[in-house]
Amino acid sequence: MYMRVRDVFERPIASVPGAVVKIKDRITQDYCWTFQFTGTETEIINTGSYNYLGFAENKGPCADASALSIDEYGLGTCSTIHEQGQSLPQYKLEKLVAQFLGVDEAICFSMGFATNSMNAPCLVDKHGLIISDEYNHASLILGCRLSGASIKVFKHNDMNDLERILRNAIANGNPKTRRPYKKILIIIEGIYSMEGSICNLPAIIALKKKYKCYLYLDEAHSIGAMGPTGRGVVEYWGCDPKDVDIMMGTFTKSFGAAGGYIGGTKAVISHLRKSSPTGYYSMPMSPPVAQQIIESMSIIMGKDGTIEGEKRIEQLARNSRYFRRNLKKMGFIVYGSDDSPVVPIMLFFPAYCGVWGREMLKRKIGIVVVSFPATAMTESRARICLSAAHTKEMLDKVLKEIDDFGNITGAKWSRRAHLYK
Ligand code: PMP
Repeated sequence: MYMRVRDVFERPIASVPGAVVKIKDRITQDYCWTFQFTGTETEIINTGSYNYLGFAENKGPCADASALSIDEYGLGTCSTIHEQGQSLPQYKLEKLVAQFLGVDEAICFSMGFATNSMNAPCLVDKHGLIISDEYNHASLILGCRLSGASIKVFKHNDMNDLERILRNAIANGNPKTRRPYKKILIIIEGIYSMEGSICNLPAIIALKKKYKCYLYLDEAHSIGAMGPTGRGVVEYWGCDPKDVDIMMGTFTKSFGAAGGYIGGTKAVISHLRKSSPTGYYSMPMSPPVAQQIIESMSIIMGKDGTIEGEKRIEQLARNSRYFRRNLKKMGFIVYGSDDSPVVPIMLFFPAYCGVWGREMLKRKIGIVVVSFPATAMTESRARICLSAAHTKEMLDKVLKEIDDFGNITGAKWSRRAHLYK
């Protein structure tokens, strides 16, 4: 009765989350969602991890440097930064992040989620207005709510809707106090993690300047993965990083580690150093984690004249275009930009999610299926995250199995469009 469907949902992975990953085989699930596992593991092609540049390995220079830093600094700092807990790797990392982003200064935190949810409230208060893209991540939504600011949501990537809200905000101000907002902050993401879409950064910067407000950009999925040298959507669009007031990102994805950062002017960063509760009252990053990021970021930056980072970024872009183009040729509806390594294959019906997750696992492919409440009820999808570490053989195997199962389930919707005319 409690047999759990065979998919990748909530299974421990028994290896690094690389292009290929081992996952524990599961037998049962009780009514409290507690799973039982067999002693065996299955090796699958991994399209579920955000390992965009393939740095999630436990071999190579990043892993070696990280292991060495455990010998030197241990695993934790055992006190907060404002007591005695600033580790040398985190101190060096903050300097490197600022250099990488092209901003004055940066501050790092042990968790990406807390970087958003705990810092947004330090930037705007109840006298301010936040204008947030409708598909912003849960950590941003929580941060907006905790700030106490008025919140308006604009239609995803819709510049007309954003300008309409800005115009009204300037004209009418705060509906409670009947005074203009003290500050207006627009919050967007670089690549949207469920849509695969890329923000229209040049247009948003133009609006921010026109209406004299501030811009907060979450580059969790785009830093490292976008732009010829991995500087994210700012570089992808050829924008000036100084035009983005708050440059936020995470280390969980392209850097194969954990944690988050905010980059900006000296004034913004020293304000956050003094006021951020997650900086003040919580442990900083684990030193080996900071070391892993220093190494992977240095590779991306071409340390010692190497082109390893550049090669990985190019490979990811090639993989993204190849994979997306083939899916569309097969007749699938794929959301987002062709340059994006986040690939949502639209299944639409929630009931398809379990079927696709199970069947792909049977075919030794781990795909994440997503449905309500992470998407609208009728917008269920399989979400593939590509990596520079995926070889052409791996991608061809994934494409072949998706093609085959797409025929069986009739999920090649663009081939069936004529039926609905
Ligand atoms: N921002 C975005 C856009 C995210 O997708 C995520 C999580 N994937 C986060 C922030 C939170 O980051 P972390 O998982 O590193 O805590």
